[in-house]
Amino acid sequence: PIGLLNGRLIDLNDNIVPMEDRGHQFGDGVYEVTRVYNGRCFALKMHVDRLYRSLRELTIPAVYTYEELAEFHELLIKESGIMEGAIYLQITRGVSPRAHGFPENVVPCLTMSIRPAAAAPDKNKLEGAKGLLIPDERWLRCDIKSLNLLGNVMGKQKANEAGCFEAIQVRDGFVTEGTSSNFFVIKDGVAWTYPRCNLILTGVTRTLIMEKIAPELGVLVVEKKFDEAFLKTAEEAFVSGTNSEITPIITINGKPVGNGSVGPITRKIQEAYWGMIDEECGR
Ligand code: PLP
Repeated sequence: PIGLLNGRLIDLNDNIVPMEDRGHQFGDGVYEVTRVYNGRCFALKMHVDRLYRSLRELTIPAVYTYEELAEFHELLIKESGIMEGAIYLQITRGVSPRAHGFPENVVPCLTMSIRPAAAAPDKNKLEGAKGLLIPDERWLRCDIKSLNLLGNVMGKQKANEAGCFEAIQVRDGFVTEGTSSNFFVIKDGVAWTYPRCNLILTGVTRTLIMEKIAPELGVLVVEKKFDEAFLKTAEEAFVSGTNSEITPIITINGKPVGNGSVGPITRKIQEAYWGMIDEECGR
């Protein structure tokens, strides 16, 4: 398996992470995951824009241009020959003797890797998946796509152990998002999702739904908090994310959402999302 270290090709099995990389010791860094369809990156510009925002919030200097990062993505696709896959990119603050405060004059460390992904939608996407409600135990800067993912990791494990696809998190009584996805419900034909703020990650997929897909379909989206009681009255639910794409959630804690099958609005949004991919990546 191949990867890139600061833009240079490496073997992923080589020992490339220095002991005192701050990503390794503090989770002091940020990441992005971008999907590759038909040998082309989908929505790369939006991912890189979000990467720059995450870096700014952590005052990690951005030392690569968009053009360089795009080139690195293309290089990984070319060298690996992977046409359907996902590219992982992370930037840490860099290597410095361990001390909590930011070191001075340290060069950030960029690592990237690529791995294959299924070309065809799986059963969860086609037939719907199970969700599990869990308390949102994460920190208060979920808007930063940081390497600190323990809350998300522990949440997803609870879902796995319950035989569910995704854990849907609840903070202060309101449903925030999944552990690696945003969450939407449909009620009276209107899509509801948690407002953009420090408590959720602004997903690229979420933004595409809100700014392009829903307006084109004539579906109204409101960014409003809703609680578990509201969720119980929803007709449809789905999660959105780079890997999940649009995955319908048809049961929550074992109880059906709406009539327990994939809802018509969810399906329309899902198909429109796949249509955008076809158009951008020439599938
Ligand atoms: N929320 C969280 C916590 C995530 O980790 C992710 C993506 O991995 C998302 C939402 C969805 O973001 P995107 O649509 O950009 O993949």
